[in-house]
Amino acid sequence: PNTTRVKDDPKLWVKSPFPDVPTVLGVEMHEMIFQQITKYGDLPAMTCGVSDKTFTFSEIYRQSRGLGAALIRAGFKRGDVVGLVLPNIPEFPIAVLGCWSAGLIVSCINPAYTDAEIKRQLASSDAKVAITIEHFLNAVRGAKSENPRLNSIIIIGEAHEGCHTFSEMVKSDTNGVTFSTGENSDTSETISLLPYSSGTTGPPKGVLLSHSNITTNLRQFLTDDVAPTKTYHDTGVQERLIGLLPFFHSYGMAAIVLVGLYQGAHSMSLPRFDPATFLKAIREHKPTCMHLVTPLISHMVNSDDYSAKEMESCHTIVGAAAPIGHVLINRILEKAGRYIFFAEGYGMTELSPLSHILNPSSRHTKIGSCGTGVPATWSKIIDLETGETLPANSRGELLVKGPQVMKGYFRNEEATKNTIDPDGWLHTGDIAHYDEDGFFYIVDRLKELIKVKGFQVAPSELEDILRKHEKVDDVAVIGVPHDESGEAPRAYIVPKTDKISEAEINAYLKPLVASFKQLKGGIEFRKEIPKAPSGKILRRELAEEYRKRQQ
Ligand code: AMP
Repeated sequence: PNTTRVKDDPKLWVKSPFPDVPTVLGVEMHEMIFQQITKYGDLPAMTCGVSDKTFTFSEIYRQSRGLGAALIRAGFKRGDVVGLVLPNIPEFPIAVLGCWSAGLIVSCINPAYTDAEIKRQLASSDAKVAITIEHFLNAVRGAKSENPRLNSIIIIGEAHEGCHTFSEMVKSDTNGVTFSTGENSDTSETISLLPYSSGTTGPPKGVLLSHSNITTNLRQFLTDDVAPTKTYHDTGVQERLIGLLPFFHSYGMAAIVLVGLYQGAHSMSLPRFDPATFLKAIREHKPTCMHLVTPLISHMVNSDDYSAKEMESCHTIVGAAAPIGHVLINRILEKAGRYIFFAEGYGMTELSPLSHILNPSSRHTKIGSCGTGVPATWSKIIDLETGETLPANSRGELLVKGPQVMKGYFRNEEATKNTIDPDGWLHTGDIAHYDEDGFFYIVDRLKELIKVKGFQVAPSELEDILRKHEKVDDVAVIGVPHDESGEAPRAYIVPKTDKISEAEINAYLKPLVASFKQLKGGIEFRKEIPKAPSGKILRRELAEEYRKRQQ
């Protein structure tokens, strides 16, 4: 992104229409959640949609404190990193809140990752301990044997040799334990989460989110007239949520784990997408608010299993993490057959994660918009060439400024400098415009990031791996439209010899990267990769060429 300041006109900065919220300081995220959930007592907090196992709010509180006490007694120190390799299960929030109680930094890892990818994040994040289930134990043990820093494994489920058992740890006595608190510390400096994101360019990087980043983002969302869901204490009714969006990702973490618990919602966790289980969860749990991504909305629109009946209990659908489009939104609303509020949100891992959301008062007059900035958030659109700040109805790169902007990338000053400019504006790498009422529309992506079913795929990561193939001379990866997953990675390969096939490349990639990163957009062999004189791959040229050929 262009970080030089050219003709930056503050009159063209767009402020959130809502009153500011102050930056939350002096309290860590788990404390903010504990203050709430201790009031909810024995109400159900999370039920596993596969096993039906339910945890109440008091159980989540007690077990989180127990885990925190056990971690402190085991010698883990404030600032140590824990890697979470977990699918969506009701123990997930206990693991996160327990680790925060002990002052640890939580780095969540995509459970769809291959063993190699899991090892990479555990090593890159400097994790000292990993929390996992039997399914990933081999991968985590492999990581531990290669990486002396990772010295403990905590296992959820049956006991395993050489591992601490989660179910024992959560029962630990909390007497005499001093838990982590933000009372006497600067919570804008204390790191809470270390998720991974490729940002505008390059491979995945650790995103440093402070406690203040995420507590403030929760407050920004929970402002009256912004949050479409209500808190149990205000209404006496529990919201019901389906926890299918992965908790490791910023959207699932914020919407279900943090907001869900804080508001006293009853969530049903689903560890993976399976059409029958998803349908059963909706029919039995009767969600009041559904957090969805584009492929799930398409699935509901196209499947005869979903009718007005399945959406009877729902007052709001929230959609984010990738482009949705007004056509699909209108189709799901038509299926509902009555007024359901569709709250499109926009955010990024680097924005803790929310910066924009459509608020309920817009009453469907702004479908296709991701709404206005949340409180205390500024936005501006800059010209892609000149960096000049643009007025309403002009397309350019969206920049965001507010208390939710990450502290930076872990051990990567260069990437941090290229993403957050000296005035504190975060360059999103997304192309957007806003209308006269200050509503934003995301129209394209400037950055190279590919989003497959809402998951991040970094072209440069795939290129690095493909370049290591003995028969590959040069390579470029771009995202192309894909019916099922929104986008899919497509590779352009310059082979060293002619004797190389698509099947050979696919077989090579299969064990190395997660299935959503496989080249479902196809492979094309060519003589050269278009590059700028600086050597930078001209991805837009390849994308344009592909688009023209599809017409
Ligand atoms: P992540 O960090 O994985 O949450 O990815 C953030 C990226 O997802 C953004 O920079 C956008 O490219 C994309 N994204 C998020 N919300 C939307 C939205 N409402 N419309 C279009 N793209 C979105």
